[in-house]
This record gives sequence, structure tokens and C-alpha cells, in this order.
Amino acid sequence: MKFHEMNERDVEKVLNTDLKEGLSSTDVQKRIKQHGYNELAEGEKQSALLLFFSQFKDFMVLVLLGAVLISGLLGEYIDAIAIVAIVIINGFLGFFQERKAEKSLDALKELSAPQVSTLRDGQWVKIPSKELVVGDVLKFASGDRIGADVRIIDSKSLEIEESALTGESLPVAKTTARIDKGDVGIGDMENMAFMGTMVTRGAGIGVVVATGMKTAMGQIADLLQNAETVITPLQRKLQELGKILIIVAILLTILVVFVGVIQGNDLYTMFLAGVSLAVAAIPEGLPAIVTVALSLGVQRMIKNNAIVRKLPAVETLGCASVICSDKTGTMTQNKMTVTHLWSGGNTWTVDGVGYDPHGRFYRADSKQPIDIKKEKSLQQMLMFGMMCNHASLKEKESNEFIVDGDPTEGALLVAAMKAGYNRDLLLNQYEIVQEFPFDSTRKMMSIVIKDVNGRQFVVTKGAPDVLVGISESVLWDGKRATFSTDMKNNVQSAINNLASQALRTIAIGFKEIPAKTLIFSEKEAEKDLTFIGLQGMIDPPRPEVKLAVKECKEAGIKTVMITGDHVITAKAIATQLGILTPKKKVLDGNTLTNMTTEELEEVVDDVAVFARVSPEHKLKIVKALQNRGHVVAMTGDGVNDAPAIKTADIGVAMGITGTDVAKEASALVLLDDNFATIKAAIKEGRNIYENIRKFIRYLLASNVGEILVMLFAMLLALPLPLVPIQILWVNLVTDGLPAMALGLDQPEGDVMRRNPRSPKEGIFARGLGWKVVSRGFLIGISTLIAFIIANNENPEHLAYAQTVAFATLVMAQLIHVFDCRSEKSIFVRNPFGNMYLVWAVISSVLLMFVVIYYPPLQPIFHTVPILAKDWIMILGLAAVPTFLLAGTFLARKRKETVV
Ligand code: ATP
Repeated sequence: MKFHEMNERDVEKVLNTDLKEGLSSTDVQKRIKQHGYNELAEGEKQSALLLFFSQFKDFMVLVLLGAVLISGLLGEYIDAIAIVAIVIINGFLGFFQERKAEKSLDALKELSAPQVSTLRDGQWVKIPSKELVVGDVLKFASGDRIGADVRIIDSKSLEIEESALTGESLPVAKTTARIDKGDVGIGDMENMAFMGTMVTRGAGIGVVVATGMKTAMGQIADLLQNAETVITPLQRKLQELGKILIIVAILLTILVVFVGVIQGNDLYTMFLAGVSLAVAAIPEGLPAIVTVALSLGVQRMIKNNAIVRKLPAVETLGCASVICSDKTGTMTQNKMTVTHLWSGGNTWTVDGVGYDPHGRFYRADSKQPIDIKKEKSLQQMLMFGMMCNHASLKEKESNEFIVDGDPTEGALLVAAMKAGYNRDLLLNQYEIVQEFPFDSTRKMMSIVIKDVNGRQFVVTKGAPDVLVGISESVLWDGKRATFSTDMKNNVQSAINNLASQALRTIAIGFKEIPAKTLIFSEKEAEKDLTFIGLQGMIDPPRPEVKLAVKECKEAGIKTVMITGDHVITAKAIATQLGILTPKKKVLDGNTLTNMTTEELEEVVDDVAVFARVSPEHKLKIVKALQNRGHVVAMTGDGVNDAPAIKTADIGVAMGITGTDVAKEASALVLLDDNFATIKAAIKEGRNIYENIRKFIRYLLASNVGEILVMLFAMLLALPLPLVPIQILWVNLVTDGLPAMALGLDQPEGDVMRRNPRSPKEGIFARGLGWKVVSRGFLIGISTLIAFIIANNENPEHLAYAQTVAFATLVMAQLIHVFDCRSEKSIFVRNPFGNMYLVWAVISSVLLMFVVIYYPPLQPIFHTVPILAKDWIMILGLAAVPTFLLAGTFLARKRKETVV
């Protein structure tokens, strides 16, 4: 018999499990040992060796290997061996960089792996889906991805979208009844749910019947294994730049070789010089360092509780100009406490701290605690709030109480506990026979309960204004009264009164239905209710959000609150947080529904709060903002948020309350669900981009310097100022470490006081091109002058002049690297602010000394020891490119202050 043909008991027996208690941990360990983890086999991973060899397949390395071959053929073995050695060192550097990048991306994958709720040793626990075993009892709800193949044993309006398996995009309604037919297709197995499919509505419980490669998904898993590597827009631009530079390199090589040969240099030397220059012209290290900078940035973000799921988001983050954020839990603490209750014209308050279920009730205008038993409507409201509820309260060892489940429901539970109610006892008196789960579009949840006499009632809790709309009567002085316009106005002003105190409000209503009736839809349940009253709860803002909103403002980023909560509550909190200012507007969901995207576009720039909206509205808001030219970050947690998250430039999902579907659609996941984390991620995003600009500037200016010194020397009919192997050394070995260290630089102080960068900005924008050319030019000229001076002093000793030029070039670059840390000038930053850079520069200097002063290396690098007196000239000339231009900055600044 197959699982869909069995009833619950059979499944329990066959799988040797316990549907009430779940599996025991020891049993789980055994099952994992026996059947392995619940994973789909991954595609082939590149081995370390392959990764190492892949370092040698780019164009630049091939050119060099060609040079090795020719040197070898001509008998120039030392050159050939030196080039091979440099290529290998360079290969190792690239290998380690890529390994590091790969490792951190793998760690990311682990972090964003889905979690599931399962019953173990009688307790519901969250575990990584990979640890599920056959026999586990699994709980899932709207927005979850099913973790393994399960036989459903409980279904509450459960609908699952199975397009990944069946191609059918319409969700299928799921039930628990056994199917009396052996051979049914996946699409017809209504009592089964399959790994990788998505719950679009309702909630359910199932028993795992297959895991890993044994699941239906596992059977077709090889179709899913072509993981693509994403590259970021900047990486793409750099690749394009690389192609242009290859052409430039070839032309330059031809030019230099041609001029050099005409000037009387020998062909072999000129050929090697040409090859070295070609290598100098191509910024081969750049793409690798960009990847490293991005992935290290991603790691720093994890430390700040933000997980980047899509690498390009790191770049886009720096361009964000609007953050649209949920209120509840993201801007507020999501720690709710009922403080006010209202029914039939009476208001009560309740005291107590947090979720501690001890507190007393008072009449609003009195300090004397009341006897609950005398307040019928209050009792009813508390009882119903407790039954129409999935939250549970746990006491930790530290006497701290925590809510397991939705905090709003937790608050209702705690309020009822303060009045002495116990959920289990209530459920002995009333049986819950049906349930219609909460969703953010309806903004309600309902249950059908049956008392001991068989009488049945619908109990609904939800957004008060919605309940007012579906109620036909109201409880007033313990009696049902018609819901006249006057009554509605009374209720409305009670709602407004609670909301204006920044309280989140929930209304409770009910109706009696004939015994033994089954209700088919929530529409049928949620109509003609009797409105009982309201519970108002505080949800204090997170303390750090106000400052974060202010910092965003200074950074040219607008914060918009989008909430399902009441307009007045939203207004009160947005004002407290500095989001809503007198000039800004509030729009509610109804107005939004009646607006076209074009109409919204006209006003959207002035709106700071969207309240009582449904998730579906978010897409409209994103589109309107994007049409106004904004780069939008949008948060969300539920299934219905997914389209907006996907469309936003930066989709942000909540790590704690977010569903799998929202997380999968997002580019960024907030581990702590905190608005301030978005701000921190944006800051990091800006910093990463600035750091990338820093080393692009450094590497390209260095390359320009190397090329120009050679080119000018050829044009001036001078001997070669640098031996090819020296160019290779500088280019491939000395430059690498400082460039990496620039990638780790701290942001400049004003990084969050500039406006967001335009996403269309090119690599050389904001003066970068000029900086590269001007610094590169001066580095080239300084090196050339050093060479000419040394050569004139001692024309017989060319190697000495070449060593001087080599040292000047290296030092000029290593001084220039400090200038690259700032968009403004070397003087605005403390040189010891980035100790990685200081150490990188020290090691590059030491490496240079080794090449110059270590005798065994001298014949290879054609170097000779430099005399102490020449170091002064070398350092002086090396400082010129940086300090000449920095001097002009200072002069300009002085002029500005004088004016
Ligand atoms: P945000 O979008 O900022 O997270 P929110 O949490 O208020 O705001 P929803 O969860 O969509 O948005 O809730 C909308 C309204 O539905 C709430 O203001 C409340 O009145 C009501 N509500 C929230 N949770 C429940 C629930 N579990 N049961 C019944 N009604 C609820």
C-alpha cells in the first residue's frame, strides 16, 4: 500500500513514529545514520586543483606562457624560469583569493538554508530542513516551502502550489482523507505534500515519508543542478573594460616593439618588453579582487545581521534612495502587551510587564482593581481572544516569559491569562471544529467552536475597521444592539482613541450558527457578526530606529512606512520615529486601491506612510517609486509580499518572521528583522563600492605609470628603463597585497552624508578617470626622471639606472596607494587608519628589497644594490605624483577658506 492510500494510524505504524510526540532525538540520530541527510545531491563542485589550474587560463597568462616558450627556444632560460615562477606566484594569489570568496559564499548558503518546524520529543522545534528524517512530524503554514515528502494529517484551508513538480501553477487544495486508488499522479495526491512545493494558503501538519533523493523532487533533481554564478554589474563592466584593454595592450606592444627596434634595441629584448607591457596594460588582478572585496563585504554584513543572497545586491544597496519598510517587528519591537480594552462604551486598562501573565484589570477612570467576574463582555472578549489563537507562552529559567507564535496573539493570550483563564480548560468546554487562518489581506482569523451542549459559534478576531464592516449588531450593556450609524460612530471613535495612543488594535466578534453546520468558506463565516469589543496593545518602537531614520535622511535616503495597521496607529508611531513630518502625507489602503499607478506616481514622493494596506499594494508602491527614478528597497515577510520583494531593486526579507517564499524572493535577509540593519547594510554597500573604486584607481594608475615610462623612453630613444621581468614583478607581485588591503578599508567619514550613487554610474565616474590618468602620468614621468638622472650619472652601468627606476616605480605606487583611500586627498585620512594597508605596503617594500639586495635574485631581476645616497632622490621623486596633486588640493582649500 502506498502512503496516500493509508490512514493516519497505518502511516504511524509503518513509519514507526508517534504523531503526538514526534520522534525522539536518539531515534532521529539513528535514522540520519541509516538514511543520510535530507539533501538533494549537489552538482559536481570544482576541486581545489581544478580551481588552481583555472588561474592559468586567462589571456594574460597565455601571453606570458608564449613568452616563456620563446625565451626557452632562444636559450634565455633564466628569463623563462623567472616568468614561470612569477606566473605561479600570481596563480597562488588568485587561487587563495577565489577560495576565500568561494568559502564565504558557501557559508552564506548555509546561513540562508531553510528551517522547518518539527515535533521532537513532544516539543515543536525549528531545525534546518536538512535534518528531517522519515517519520518526523512536520508543521507548515502559508509561505513555507515543504521540507520533505509528507502525508498530510491535518489541514486548515491548506493550499499548495506544486508547479515545480507538476508544471501547474494554480495551487491545489489539500485534505487529509485517504485516497482509495493506488496509481494516482502527483497532481492528484491531495493528501500528500512534496518537497520543494510551496504553501500558498492555510496551514497543515504532515508526517515525513521520504527525504533527500528519495523524494519526488529528488527523482528529477538532476534537472535542478545547474547552479549559475551571478556576476554583478560592476564585474560585467570590468570584463568589458578588460576586453578594450586587451586591444590597447596589443597595439601598445606593437608600437613599443616597433619603436624600440627602430631605435636599435635587439628584437628579443623588445619582444619581452612588449609582452611585459601588454601584461601591465591588462588589470588581470581586478576581477578577482572585486570578487574578494564583494565577498568580504558580504561577511561583514553577516556580522551586522544582514545576509546578502544575491551578490549584485551589494552594489545596488549603495544606490538605494528609498527604503519601504514594514512597521510591526521591523520598526517596532514586536513585543506586544494589551494595555486597554473596550466594549460597549466601557474602557478597562490592564497592568503588568511584557509577557508576564500577571496583572490586574481596572476601570479606565479608577485605580481600584476590578472583579472580572462582574464584567461579562470583558470576559467574553478575553476568552475568545484566547481561543482564536495559536500562540503559546513559555517560561524560561530566568523567569522570563517568551511567546511562541504570533506576538499579537501572544498579547491576547497573556491578557486572558491575567484574568485567570487557561486555554486547555477552555478547550475542554469548547471544541474548535473549524478554523480559517489569519491572512494579511483579510486581516482576520476565525474559528468555529462547539460547546458541551452542541451549540456552535463563529468567533472572529481581526482589524477593528474590518470587523465593523462585517458586523450587523454590537454588544452594548451586555445585550445585542443593532449596529446603527450612531453605534458605528461610537465604536469608530473608540478605535480612533486607542489608535491615537499608538496602540495596535484587535477587535473580537462572534455569531451563533445552527448546530452541526459545516462552513465552507471564510466569507460565509465572516459576516453578520456581533461586535464585542477591542483590545489595544502597545508595541514600542525599537530604540535604534529613530537614529537610523535620521542617518538615512542625511544620506539622501527616504524612509517610507508600509503597514497593515490602522492609519492612526501608524501615524502616531511614524511621527515618533521622525518618518512622518508635517510636510509628508499618509495614504491608506482604500485610497491606494482606487488610484492608478500613474496617479500614485504623482504623489508618491510626498507620502511617508501607507497604512491599512494589503501586501498586494506593495507592488504598486514599488512600481510608482521606480517610475519616479528611485532605487527601492522593500521589506516583506509573507507569500503575498514576494512579488513586491522580487520587483524592488533590493528585496528585503525578514529572517525571523519571514516565510521561505519571501526569503527566496529577496536579495537581502535581515537576521534580526530590524530596520536599523537595512541602514547598516546600505552603509556597507556604499563602502564596498567605494573600496572597489579605490583599488581600481590604484591598479589602473599603476598600470598607466608602467606603460608610460616605457613608451616615453622608447620615444626619447633612451635605453629600456625597466627590464621586462621587473615590470612583471611590480605588476603581478608588488601591487596585489596593497590592492587587497584597499578592499578592506574603512569608509570615509562622510559616506553616509552623500547622496546615493546613480545606478547608471560608470566605472570612471566622479573624476576617477582623471585621477587614474593624472596620477599614472606622474608616476610614469617620475620613474623616467629617476632613470634619466641615474643613467646620466653613470651611463656605463645601465642595470643600476634600471634598478633605480624599478625602486622609484614601486615606491611611487606604494605612496600613491594611501592617496587612493580618499576621494578628496591623502591629507584627510590617517595613514594608520587601515593597518592591513600599512602591513601590505611594508611587505611590498620588503619584497622589493629582497629583489634588489639578495644576491641570488639579482641576476634574475637584473638588479644591483642601490647606494644609500640615491634613496633620497628615489623617495623624493616617488612622492611627487601624490603630493603634487595633494598640494593643489590644499591650495584650493586654503583659497576657499580665505574667500
Ligand atoms: P506590518 O505590515 O507593519 O507588519 P501589521 O503586522 O499590522 O503591519 P498585518 O499583519 O497585515 O500588518 O495586520 C493587519 C491588521 O490585522 C492588524 O492591524 C491587526 O488589526 C490585524 N491582525 C494582525 N494579526 C492578527 C491575527 N493574528 N489575528 C487577527 N487579526 C490580526
